[in-house]
Amino acid sequence: MIRYALKCRGCGHGFDGWFRSSADFDTQGARGLLTCPVCDGHGVDKALMSPAVAAAPQGPASPGGVVTSAPSGEAAALFRQLQDLARKVRSEGTYVGAAFAEEARRIHHGEAEGRQIYGEASGHEVRSLLEEGIAALPLPPLPEDKN
Ligand SMILES: [Zn+2]
Repeated sequence: MIRYALKCRGCGHGFDGWFRSSADFDTQGARGLLTCPVCDGHGVDKALMSPAVAAAPQGPASPGGVVTSAPSGEAAALFRQLQDLARKVRSEGTYVGAAFAEEARRIHHGEAEGRQIYGEASGHEVRSLLEEGIAALPLPPLPEDKN
């Protein structure tokens, strides 16, 4: 038996039909035995959609495979927001490399020009900055970094 996804030409109703073979489908169609269960129309076609396609994973592809490697749902959305933030900081901020913690302190104490900076810092350094009342945030890696 073969299952075909069928579609009524008259009303657009989609339904499944079982046939012994593809020739059986043609024969029934030629004899006018194929009718739409909704409008009784005889114009029934095989729908282009096959069961294999319908069973394929749903949803849009994730750019750069970001979503597949990140947690799902709310956490994934948050992760993407952090990545957007990381991109924004990288495009607008000044890169200070390993001097990040030191430079952040200098800005905080008015010893350096107040500006947005980013650079390398350990989790310990970021924690120390936060404890000193300096706004610092660990940024997530970006998918483009892997290129
Ligand atoms: Zn119909």
